[in-house]
Amino acid sequence: MITGEQYKERIAKQKPNVYMGGKIIDRFDPKLLGGIYVMAATYDLAFDPELKDVGTAISHLTGEKINRFTHIHQGVEDLLKKQKMTRLYCQEVGGCIQRCMGIDALNALSVVTYEADKQFGTKYNENFINFLKRVQKEDLSLNCAQTDVKGNRPWRPHEQKDPDLYLRVVEKRPDGIIVNGAKAHNSCSTYVDEIIVLPTRNMTEEETDWAVAFAVPPDWEGITLINAAYSPNKRKKLEAPYNKIGMGHSVTVFDHVLIPWERVFLCGEAALAGKLALLFALFHRHSYTGCKAAVSEIFTGATALAAEYNGIERAQHVRHTLADMIQIVDLIYAAGIAAAIHSIKAESGTYIPDSNYCNAGRMMAGESIYKEYEALAATAGGLPATLPPEEDFYNEKTRPYLEKYIMRNPEVSAENQHRAFRMFQDMMSSAWGGHKLIDYLHGGGSPVIEKVAIYRDHNINHSKNIAKKLAGIPFEGTTKNIDNRLSHAWL
Ligand SMILES: Cc1cc2nc3c(=O)[nH]c(=O)nc-3n(C[C@H](O)[C@H](O)[C@H](O)COP(=O)(O)OP(=O)(O)OC[C@H]3O[C@@H](n4cnc5c(N)ncnc54)[C@H](O)[C@@H]3O)c2cc1C
Repeated sequence: MITGEQYKERIAKQKPNVYMGGKIIDRFDPKLLGGIYVMAATYDLAFDPELKDVGTAISHLTGEKINRFTHIHQGVEDLLKKQKMTRLYCQEVGGCIQRCMGIDALNALSVVTYEADKQFGTKYNENFINFLKRVQKEDLSLNCAQTDVKGNRPWRPHEQKDPDLYLRVVEKRPDGIIVNGAKAHNSCSTYVDEIIVLPTRNMTEEETDWAVAFAVPPDWEGITLINAAYSPNKRKKLEAPYNKIGMGHSVTVFDHVLIPWERVFLCGEAALAGKLALLFALFHRHSYTGCKAAVSEIFTGATALAAEYNGIERAQHVRHTLADMIQIVDLIYAAGIAAAIHSIKAESGTYIPDSNYCNAGRMMAGESIYKEYEALAATAGGLPATLPPEEDFYNEKTRPYLEKYIMRNPEVSAENQHRAFRMFQDMMSSAWGGHKLIDYLHGGGSPVIEKVAIYRDHNINHSKNIAKKLAGIPFEGTTKNIDNRLSHAWL
């Protein structure tokens, strides 16, 4: 296990290949520091004595103590601890902890590389285990580049006018494969040790070139990261933990990149591409039941604070709003707990959370974000949008006016009023807040995709049989069980 400082020293050694704002930038460009701060926290929090059981695990490969973000779930307890760690860490930093996609990709690969070797006699699991040992020993941070740029949505990969709109293998050589294409929306790719590339969807037999998975450092020859970065507004004087965070997302271009065979985890086995894509999404949605529970709790706390500072906390409509918000926190988290308890063990030994509970939790998480913004905005009033700039609170002439007229609840000081509303502004009325609004909806998979999964994995005939029985209509089978899962068919 390494510290946040050691992680930063390693990232500082990467070659410059990040473009932002029309030019090549340093990996420690001020706009990227917020993301690096969050990633470093995943290292330092693992040493926090209050969190020790949550942030670390024992490697099933080496018996060594490792950072939990590099662990393969060996039982229900591991899934529960991963969810709890994700929630606690997100609460600590104030939002997305960013390193979850690494553990989720590792767990998906642990299952699918094992099955690939069994079905096709390949050596992907050996490649994966060697890679995993390095990830655990060196405590590597990982991005998962799954989402392809995808071109015209209704067309499959092989139907696109430009075949590179889904990343693909263009050549197989004795020393490795050459891949070409681009992945989209790659969070934290500019400040991780390795990018794990996975297929974005199922592939048909005509699409073996697109059925590819591998790991590669982000500064590898032929890779260009075209990045967008967001942070809460920078503060001049009124520093707060929430203002230290940030996040970057890149279009990651692979221009005829050589991937050595030992880094390849799937290449041409179309039958397993969909399973790998779905499994990563499933593990990631389980992580979401931890992170989004934290985000919902932050919104709940901010709304309660706004109510207290406005002097309206006893109003009945405020209490109802808060009760609705608490219910969202609890149901999202409960979905993750249920998914862990109802997990199944894959042949590789990895525990896979229940699909329906994960998707139900993730869908609720995605859709509820707009209600949470609304609740905070409604309770806080208009000030988050119209708060004068920070400098005016420190200008000799305007400071006395602002400190006098920001006052609401007389029990709360002017500075704390300012601090609270400044954070509400960052959360909702800023470039950061706008970007998070889309992130919370689509990151980890859009709610519409969860609907597809929920419908796919629920045995609707079982539900219909219950209705038939109650209506006195004949049906086949029994209703005296809770046999409403079809997810085991694709798992
Ligand atoms: C902030 C942020 C961070 C992210 N980080 C990562 C990351 O690190 N790694 C990663 O791999 N991904 C990441 N994602 C990607 C995320 O998973 C995707 O945004 C999500 O899966 C939706 O894909 P899309 O953005 O391409 O939207 P689309 O797929 O284009 O969806 C737009 C709309 O089109 C509809 N649609 C799409 N295809 C069809 C079709 N064939 N027929 C009918 N309707 C269709 C969808 O249902 C949706 O309503 C991130 C996204 C965001 C916003």
